[in-house]
Amino acid sequence: MHLAQFAQAESWFGLFDEEEMEKLLLAGKIARAVRQAVPRMVFQGASVLGICEWVESEIARMGGSPAFPCNVSINEVGAHYTSPTSDTTVVPDGALVKVDLGVHIDGFIADTAVTVSVGSEFEDMIKAAELALERGVQAVRVGGKIGDVGPLVEKTIRSMGYKPIRNLTGHQIEQYTIHSGLSIPNVSGSEPTGKFQPWSVYAIEPFATLPRAIGEVKEGAPGNILHLVKLKRPKTEPQKGAYEEIYRRFRTLPFAKRWVAGIGEAVSKLLAEKVLYEYPVLVEASGMPIAQAEHTVVTTDKESIVTT
Ligand code: MN
Ligand code: MN
Repeated sequence: MHLAQFAQAESWFGLFDEEEMEKLLLAGKIARAVRQAVPRMVFQGASVLGICEWVESEIARMGGSPAFPCNVSINEVGAHYTSPTSDTTVVPDGALVKVDLGVHIDGFIADTAVTVSVGSEFEDMIKAAELALERGVQAVRVGGKIGDVGPLVEKTIRSMGYKPIRNLTGHQIEQYTIHSGLSIPNVSGSEPTGKFQPWSVYAIEPFATLPRAIGEVKEGAPGNILHLVKLKRPKTEPQKGAYEEIYRRFRTLPFAKRWVAGIGEAVSKLLAEKVLYEYPVLVEASGMPIAQAEHTVVTTDKESIVTT
């Protein structure tokens, strides 16, 4: 059963069956356990590739699959960096490190993130993102306005002396789809009109930066994260075989270039033919450091459950 049917339904005849709810909860439980273990893996000089591989192998060891590559985004990079094969990047002195991880069980997804400060300079900024997350999550109630989240998140971050990133948002999640159509803003000013629906999955993810920053991200260099955008099997090899392998392993979920290193040449061709898309990293426009916090919330007809 596909969650999109419910997200788009006019009347709420549908619900997650017991098995689907268990998959959502298990994905959340694994994501939470891995996230909680992340801080001891992040220290000055730690290998970024080592962090990515550790997170992804922990997810697998606990019985899940990564819903996307482990993102390790440092300082002014807000999102969408994962290590390429043989990445020699290490965590620099004093860095602000965001580790964003996703888990899925048969496409039922949990998405969560934590920020680790190497040094103590940014502890308060991390707290601002975390408090904004806590308040944002409380606003996810069936029938509540989606537009209430942005002003709440912005007010919380500003009250602690920081600035929200205005063009990074939370989002709705559907089966095998990490960002479905609906965005959940982190600032006031462009509130969506809809309400939170029962039997849905939402990710809330505030980002905080310094008050003197511009407070928005722009696209930077390619971040080694790909996904299938053209759902049409190519007619010629080696693209045809590579497409089949990618669809079988990831459907339309994001995946790392290093996960498909064995078919690298075909992957390059699929990228050139725009069958695959490579996400650029998202960088704070004035080069200021960013902190992030994220949870996934599942709604039923009665309650909201933070799965992560
Ligand atoms: Mn995330
Ligand atoms: Mn997310």
